[in-house]
Amino acid sequence: MSKKILIIGSGIAGISSSLKLKSFGFESTIIDKGNFIGGRIGTRNVESKNNSNYFLHGAQFFTAKSYNFQKVIQNGINKGYIKEYGSFSPPRYRGFKSMRDFLMNLSQNLSITQNVKVTHLKPHNEKISVREDRSNIWKTYDAVISTLPAPQNLNLMKKFPILKKTLKTASYDACIALMFIFDKKPRNLPYFLDFYNQQGMLSWMAAGSNLRFWTAQTKGDFSNKNINKDKMLLKNEIVQEIEKAIYQLEPNIKINFHSLHIWKYAKVTKVCSGPQIDPKFPIVVAGDFMEGANIESAFSSGEKAAELILERLH
Ligand SMILES: Cc1cc2nc3c(=O)[nH]c(=O)nc-3n(C[C@H](O)[C@H](O)[C@H](O)COP(=O)(O)OP(=O)(O)OC[C@H]3O[C@@H](n4cnc5c(N)ncnc54)[C@H](O)[C@@H]3O)c2cc1C
Repeated sequence: MSKKILIIGSGIAGISSSLKLKSFGFESTIIDKGNFIGGRIGTRNVESKNNSNYFLHGAQFFTAKSYNFQKVIQNGINKGYIKEYGSFSPPRYRGFKSMRDFLMNLSQNLSITQNVKVTHLKPHNEKISVREDRSNIWKTYDAVISTLPAPQNLNLMKKFPILKKTLKTASYDACIALMFIFDKKPRNLPYFLDFYNQQGMLSWMAAGSNLRFWTAQTKGDFSNKNINKDKMLLKNEIVQEIEKAIYQLEPNIKINFHSLHIWKYAKVTKVCSGPQIDPKFPIVVAGDFMEGANIESAFSSGEKAAELILERLH
């Protein structure tokens, strides 16, 4: 018998849950409140008359240590939508041409609707009732997988106290991402600069579509303290720090500010402990907060959520 399964969130955890369900012959529907697929794997396009460029203002690359994720990566490489990124050990990968292309290709046979926000969840007989802001009516599903970052997930789980308890155990750092364009192509900069072990607010900066389009990200402690600061002050402070950091390599280059993106729940600093599935109702939580602060862990958590739901439905 076919089952009606809803996945909340079109980030990598939502996509991997849906793919896993499909591999077992179960269709599911993904809904997401954002304009674009991918959640924190963010690509910001910049279209001009003759060009199309992008910044990567969320995740920059992914690793693939597990067998299942390696299979996904290999398939993407064979089909041309994933490429190795630089020459790191262990290898790092990026979507080609952008991270969004990776997700679009990965999810091309899935049913995904953007711009719909889930506002309420509640148990209903042996099922789950869901309300979202587009139709504003309650709809009932045989099962739900919810992949929002833990603090947002928590707000939806008022009627599921065990999951609420699990979600409360996670913690996150914020991240401030500054997108900027150099006035000319830099001659001496590599495409990725790591400042993590140096003093100062910057964590790293990485080129997007080419060496003129960059995103700089700030460290967790700085981001946590400054997420509510005036955006103009923040922008000036970060631009000055970038100028200082690259001055020796590129003394004559100018930074043109593009935009600032603030991720309130960017990087998991403590993963959840506790059950991922409700003891009574067919509802599961999944995402990086269950396994680790990276794309691969979120992918694996999504697959696990699908397996848990399938066990429950049988
Ligand atoms: C700045 C930054 C840099 C990073 N760099 C890296 C990196 O280089 N490599 C790496 O591996 N990882 C990196 N990460 C971490 C990585 O991006 C995440 O671990 C991963 O993308 C999490 O995926 P997810 O599916 O669990 O959650 P998300 O991607 O957060 O997906 C959750 C989705 O739920 C949606 N949503 C939220 N509320 C609702 C609602 N009420 N209704 C419907 N939809 C809703 C959101 O729109 C979102 O699309 C970075 C993260 C950030 C923020």
